[in-house]
Amino acid sequence: MSTSILLVEDDRPIAENVVLALAREGIDCRHVTLAADGLALLRANSYDLAILDVGLPDGNGFELCRSVRGFSDIPIIFLTARSDEIDRVVGLEIGADDYVLKPFSPRELAARVKTILRRMQPVRVSLSAPPAPTAGTGGIEVDEERAIISFKAQTLDLSRTEYLMLKALAARPEKVFSRSELMDASGLAEASLERSVDTHIKSLRAKLAVLAPDADPIRTHRGLGYSLARDAR
Ligand code: CA
Repeated sequence: MSTSILLVEDDRPIAENVVLALAREGIDCRHVTLAADGLALLRANSYDLAILDVGLPDGNGFELCRSVRGFSDIPIIFLTARSDEIDRVVGLEIGADDYVLKPFSPRELAARVKTILRRMQPVRVSLSAPPAPTAGTGGIEVDEERAIISFKAQTLDLSRTEYLMLKALAARPEKVFSRSELMDASGLAEASLERSVDTHIKSLRAKLAVLAPDADPIRTHRGLGYSLARDAR
C-alpha cells in the first residue's frame, strides 16, 4: 500500500516544492489551498499523514486540526511562519505531532514525514498482530491489540502520543526514561522541544488522577526524566 499524505497550504510555490520533495521519497501528496477542502478530503479519505499550514485563507490550521481530531488520529505536522505560534504547537494541546518553522527546506520536511510514518508503524503492526497478553503495572493495563490503556480497570482517553508514551513507560516499570527516549517512543520528532514531553506527562498525570487522585504512578526524576512505579495501587 503506497503512502499518501495531504498538504493544506495556500502558498503555491511552497506547496509545489513540498509535493516535489515528497515525490522524490516515493510519497504521494495531495495538495489543497483551503482549510474547508482539507477537512472535506480528510473526512472522505484515509491519508497516512496531514501537513497543515497555520495561516490559511479561510481559517487557520489550529482550528482545522481540532476539527480533524474530532474524527481522526492521523499524524499532523504544522507549517508555521511565526515563532510565537510554536508554543501552541509544542504544547500539543491541539493534537499536533510536529511542526516546521518557515522558511524550511522541503527535503527536511520530507525527512520529518518519513520519521513520523516510520514511528507509526509499530502501532499499526500491533493492531493486526495476534492478541498479546496485557501488561499490568500499578493498576495500568496495556492492551496493544486494541491500542488502549486502562488504569484501575477504567479505559483512559489518550491521544496517540500519550498512548505511546505511557505504553513505553509501562513496558519497563521503574526504568528511568530520559525525555529524548520518551520523545522517541512516542513518535515526537527530534526537533520537537523536550519540554513537550513534560506537557504530555502533565496531561497523562491529570487523566490518571481523575481515576485515582492519590495514586500518581508517574515519578519525576529531576534532570533525568520519568518512570512508572511498579506497583502504585
Ligand atoms: Ca499561509
